[in-house]
Amino acid sequence: MSTHAPQASSPARLVALPATLDDAVAALAEVPAAVPVAGGTDLMAAVNAGLLRPAALVGLGRLAELRGWAYQDGHALLGACLTHARMSRPDFAALIPALAAAARSAGPPQVRNAGTLGGNVVSAAAFGDTLPVLAALEATLLVAGPEGDGRQIPIGQLLAGRDRLHPGELLAHVRVPLLHAPQTFLKATTRSGPSRALASVAVVLDPVRREVRCAVGAVAPVPLRPLDAERWVASLVDWDGDRGLAPEALAAFGDYVGMACIPDPGPEPAPGDREAGQLPLVLLQLRRTVATLARRGLGRALA
Ligand SMILES: Cc1cc2nc3c(=O)[nH]c(=O)nc-3n(C[C@H](O)[C@H](O)[C@H](O)COP(=O)(O)OP(=O)(O)OC[C@H]3O[C@@H](n4cnc5c(N)ncnc54)[C@H](O)[C@@H]3O)c2cc1C
Repeated sequence: MSTHAPQASSPARLVALPATLDDAVAALAEVPAAVPVAGGTDLMAAVNAGLLRPAALVGLGRLAELRGWAYQDGHALLGACLTHARMSRPDFAALIPALAAAARSAGPPQVRNAGTLGGNVVSAAAFGDTLPVLAALEATLLVAGPEGDGRQIPIGQLLAGRDRLHPGELLAHVRVPLLHAPQTFLKATTRSGPSRALASVAVVLDPVRREVRCAVGAVAPVPLRPLDAERWVASLVDWDGDRGLAPEALAAFGDYVGMACIPDPGPEPAPGDREAGQLPLVLLQLRRTVATLARRGLGRALA
């Protein structure tokens, strides 16, 4: 998904390489047809495939203020131009382990060196690796635009299309809570090595709110939150004790998540259709994959 997609018949010209966020917003205001580009891994792939012909580009690669993070009231403010490679490093992993794990798995090294958190969020591809983590963390997006900084969009609202970036706006920061508790991200792909997700699961423990939060990526256009399964398993965790769970409970959680995200079809088969009402084999396998990822993800978080 792109919120800035004006088309042009001639090749794009580079309007600006601003050095500050204010200048980037000003450059977009000056040339409303301009499209922001961060690492270019998604945008240039679309251009090369002939799917997009931006009239003009505003490069975000020099915005040093968006390439790091800051702390604010128990949260981390993550710059939209943080690359996957930067988020993979141990200091970042110590802060937000699931996001670091997602970043480590996002494509081959060349893509991780260039591709950014903001680009992953704004592209909002179903397989986007950071998205289930941000959904489980209940992240908030901070937007900069001609009206000034500070418009906030809950990640779920953006991904569901209920709110979006307006023309001239940039994603500036992603605010995530620092939970100081284990969290995991696991991803299944069709082949070994860096590859796009067939299914992914993020599990986050929130000991203060006594919550287990889980989001499943790639099996639907947006990450899915199996809220009933989250509440059920959180009620089994001994939050004041060792937080361990029996293998049967972990397996039941996995099955619960799998069923919630890939439910059985309705009970009403069409007349003469013997296969209706049954889940196709490929979806049964995907449900098993999700169940396995959820079981392992929670098991590792609670270990
Ligand atoms: C070979 C290959 C493998 C890949 N594998 C994976 C994978 O395994 N997992 C995965 O999740 N992704 C994968 N990707 C997709 C891609 O690398 C990521 O989505 C990346 O995070 C995009 O970031 P970017 O900075 O390159 O975005 P860009 O390509 O620069 O931009 C993408 C979109 O976001 C907009 N945009 C970017 N930054 C901002 C901002 N701050 N504010 C407003 N709009 C903005 C752009 O206008 C554009 O519409 C892969 C891509 C390739 C080419």
